[in-house]
Amino acid sequence: MKIYIAQTPTEAHIVCELLKTEHIVCEVRGENLFGLKGELPFGDDTDPYIWLLHPEQKLKASVILEEYRKQAEPTYLDWQCPQCLEQNEGQFGACWHCGYQIGEP
Ligand SMILES: [Zn+2]
Repeated sequence: MKIYIAQTPTEAHIVCELLKTEHIVCEVRGENLFGLKGELPFGDDTDPYIWLLHPEQKLKASVILEEYRKQAEPTYLDWQCPQCLEQNEGQFGACWHCGYQIGEP
């Protein structure tokens, strides 16, 4: 059964290896179609995915995948504006107070 759809073949292999270290029997499938993405109207079908060979391991695999997803989410740290010293929340790329943008010299 299909248990995880990856954004890239690389991600698919990372997740697959992660599962294998927990003795989940799985493999990466669909990565050969990835190169055709954009040329063929396959949509999500061209994304590489991870195939679980032993359906009875699904529960264990989903726990590992849940952990992986949490970890993969970007964590935003609050930052201080170097221009006006205002505190900004991490998801904003510019200072709410003076408009300074992260990355500007
Ligand atoms: Zn500022």
